[in-house]
Amino acid sequence: MRVVLLGPPGAGKGTQAQIIAGELGVPAISTGDIFRANVSGQTELGRKAKVFMDAGDLVPDEITVAMVKDRLAEADAAGGFLLDGFPRTISQAEQLRESLTELGHGLDRVLELVVDEEELVRRLSGRRMLVDGQMVQRDDDKPETVRHRLKVYREQTAPLSGFYEDEGLLARIDAIGAVEEVTARALAALGADRAQPSAD
Ligand code: AMP
Repeated sequence: MRVVLLGPPGAGKGTQAQIIAGELGVPAISTGDIFRANVSGQTELGRKAKVFMDAGDLVPDEITVAMVKDRLAEADAAGGFLLDGFPRTISQAEQLRESLTELGHGLDRVLELVVDEEELVRRLSGRRMLVDGQMVQRDDDKPETVRHRLKVYREQTAPLSGFYEDEGLLARIDAIGAVEEVTARALAALGADRAQPSAD
């Protein structure tokens, strides 16, 4: 299966991506994780991306799309994948569609995790991740950057919802609740898609 997971920062995409990809037996590909790995590894790509990430802005499409194309060309993605955090602009979505068409494929489903903005701010300001044995706040989870990232999401990424709805691929998932409940809703949307055409 070829799946895209959409949703604002703080919706739980990373967590759900890992679980859902495990269930589907496909790799979870997170552009945010690839960028962060490059920043820690101090690569040329990481150096370029860091400026945008620290500001809560999107890394330019040329850099991001080239990176995703390389990742999708790896052997483990040949039979399917779950993309987490990509596409984030209409242009990225169009370029993804083009690349997949060239390979004779298309997306099977786009899941959008829906959470209201008040809950997102609450979740992001409390979020910590484990680095070298310590729980630390991501630089881009600081309150002022969080507000900016949500604005960037509204302006540049939210339109993807309509884009994929028009393509008949979108399933909106209520992402409030326990992790397992949200996973169950997401898997039901994917299962329903496989078993019978759904109305959404
Ligand atoms: P994430 O972990 O998905 O929240 O991504 C962290 C940061 O990486 C974002 O705030 C962007 O700066 C950058 N990033 C991740 N995915 C993309 C993308 N598809 N397009 C542009 N920038 C991205």
